[in-house]
Amino acid sequence: MIFEQVQHFIFRSFLIVIILSGLTCQKEQMGTIDIHPKFQIYVDRFVQEAAQRGHLIDFSDTGLKIEFRNAVDVETGGVCRGNHHIEIEKFYWEDLTDADKEGLIFHELGHCELNRRHRNDTLPNGEWSSRMRGSPIPEELSAVINYSGVRREYYIDELFDEATPVPDWATYAPAYGEIANRQREQIFFTDSTFTNFRKNFILDKEDDFEIELEVDIYQSLSYVGIQFGGSIFESSFRIVYTGYGKIIIDSGKNLYGTMRDISNSPVIKSGFNKLTLRKEGDRFLVYINEQFIYWYEVPEFYSRVVESFKSREGDPQYRNLVINKINP
Ligand SMILES: [Zn+2]
Repeated sequence: MIFEQVQHFIFRSFLIVIILSGLTCQKEQMGTIDIHPKFQIYVDRFVQEAAQRGHLIDFSDTGLKIEFRNAVDVETGGVCRGNHHIEIEKFYWEDLTDADKEGLIFHELGHCELNRRHRNDTLPNGEWSSRMRGSPIPEELSAVINYSGVRREYYIDELFDEATPVPDWATYAPAYGEIANRQREQIFFTDSTFTNFRKNFILDKEDDFEIELEVDIYQSLSYVGIQFGGSIFESSFRIVYTGYGKIIIDSGKNLYGTMRDISNSPVIKSGFNKLTLRKEGDRFLVYINEQFIYWYEVPEFYSRVVESFKSREGDPQYRNLVINKINP
């Protein structure tokens, strides 16, 4: 672009020849751009997001090399080697959602281009303050980032400006009791106890609703909970916990990937725990034992189906499944 403009000007002014020779000289010092095609769209997005925030980045001065690395290294998905040379772990890459691919490339460019270091503090709700979170990650925290919707916007703002204020969504924690009983219109209820279940229900797209049930991890050895929004793993959500108080809120690659991974939550008790998934407008809210745990964005498409979801070993117990429509 710049060179086209320069070529245009040279026909009009001899003086520009001097500037052009200056540029030509600069061109000889320019870095080489060598980006594996799989990474190009994410580099383009980085340039675009930078421009939207008033930063002009084109890598013509520094060069940029992004390539796959074949060595298996589970510790890091990518690394900036300095001199704008990024290596991405191939096996790790293939398993990522589109959003997480972007997040990984943006993180590495955060090191290489923005001179960012790792930032490992958290927001008021416990989620990471920055896409630049990284090793060493404190033992009680997980590297998981929900990099979608309004969260993604914040993380990109923060990437380019570390002084970005705490976003509203990081303090959003509506109380369980915000919904009054009179608003609940029961559309399904069973008081039996079972080891697995699957339930479809019908509501209009704009209707708010609530799915509640009690889960006892019982003889199950690992995680237990529910899957919601579809029977295909990659297009559904999961809310599960373990006997050690680990809570995982996950979605498939067609959605947001893993969104939240909490260790040692005091909310989880032995015996039955009450799970609540509530749709309120464009947000899903997750409660455990009536404590707010997390919110995430309602996707454009999902099925109204909820089912048991558990590790293979052992049988948990489910009881008191209820589905309510929530009226205004
Ligand atoms: Zn890093």
